[in-house]
Amino acid sequence: MIAETLSVGTELLLGQIVDTDAVFLAQMLSRLGITLYFRTTVGDNPGRIQEALRLALSRADLVFTVGGLGPTMDDLTKEMAADVLGVPLVEDVAHAEWLRGLARERGWAEPPASFQKQALVPRSGRGLPNPNGTALGALFEKDGKIVICLPGPPNELVPMAEQSVEPYLREKTSGERQVIRSRTLRIIGAGESLVEDRVRDLMQGSNPTVAPYAKTGEVHLRVTARAASDEEAEALIAPMEGALRERLGDLVYGIDEETLEYAVVHLLILLGRTLAAAESCTGGLLAQRLTSIPDASRVFEEGFVTYSNAAKTKYLGVPAETLARHGAVSPEVARAMAAGAREAAGSDLAASVTGIAGPGGGTQEKPVGTVHIGLAWDGGVISEHHQFLGGRADVRWRSAQAALALVRRFLLNPDDTQFAPGEDG
Ligand code: ATP
Repeated sequence: MIAETLSVGTELLLGQIVDTDAVFLAQMLSRLGITLYFRTTVGDNPGRIQEALRLALSRADLVFTVGGLGPTMDDLTKEMAADVLGVPLVEDVAHAEWLRGLARERGWAEPPASFQKQALVPRSGRGLPNPNGTALGALFEKDGKIVICLPGPPNELVPMAEQSVEPYLREKTSGERQVIRSRTLRIIGAGESLVEDRVRDLMQGSNPTVAPYAKTGEVHLRVTARAASDEEAEALIAPMEGALRERLGDLVYGIDEETLEYAVVHLLILLGRTLAAAESCTGGLLAQRLTSIPDASRVFEEGFVTYSNAAKTKYLGVPAETLARHGAVSPEVARAMAAGAREAAGSDLAASVTGIAGPGGGTQEKPVGTVHIGLAWDGGVISEHHQFLGGRADVRWRSAQAALALVRRFLLNPDDTQFAPGEDG
């Protein structure tokens, strides 16, 4: 079964509200294994709603409309669906009576016709109960096509979809039941194009599909399979995951919801090593990310937020002379911060971050986005230079990301030439 969603509302086109309803429906359809090829948005204009409906019905078996079920002039969706399908609307007697009762409670002598239209349902199909509102939803069935009209407010749409629509669709698709399952491989240390280069041939298949997504400071590869059961979907995903991992090696740091901080904390636990953090431009973000992981207390000793030069000297013992000669954003200071944090915390490792997050503070020599990451361990201390793009939040996030990535690389491969004495990145 092919589905399409049609969100109705000028508010959506003006960017005044975000289409969370369409996201909810897309997730529901994916759970049900129903394919969604198009999501459309149209304003509150009768002609264009009809046009969009006709187009949707020409390429889908199941069309959802969202919004425009209420009692006002511009709430026209159900009427438009009835028109396009050629299915008359009839009054749901019980609901109409309930609405008249509501009108009496509100002190209206006679409810306006626009209010009572909320009780209209398709003659060929049925109304859908609305536990949180006055307008019934509508389910049209005609010549093998299904149109489901849902209300816009999420607190009305979600229960209606869960209580009436999902069970109906589950039943409808029981013969052709399919599941869609995805696994995301999370990659650090290579950009999107490099990742794509390495796995391009594996991206040609249609089941499972493999698609790359660029995220801030990392890349995700999503493997999606369609099958009759979870087990069959897993049987399609697992070999593809294996093949991708073989190509990408240690660049894959986790799957699905596993963050980089999760990977680092668990590696530290596995290896029985402890870590401290010394931060300037990230202002504690590195420590925050590490400590957001349950069990971080087993491996994370201390975090220092040393924003000023004086704090770097006072808490980490960075020599005032080093700061004066090289500046706070320099490889020398990054290394001194890491070494000082390791000593002060008594940890096995310490990572440091010093940089210019912007938007101000950059110079020709050290532009915004200049960041130095330090790492100290019992055998030495190194620093790494980065030049990040993006706004303040991006630079801070990427800096913490780079520090976590450096710690991870060291833990996985301490004998790498990057960690050889005397080397400097
Ligand atoms: P009402 O009876 O409130 O008029 P309705 O079914 O006619 O409901 P709309 O008038 O289209 O729906 O939208 C009502 C409100 O619902 C909007 O102001 C907005 O807050 C929310 N809403 C509408 N469409 C969406 C959507 N696609 N995603 C999220 N919220 C939405």
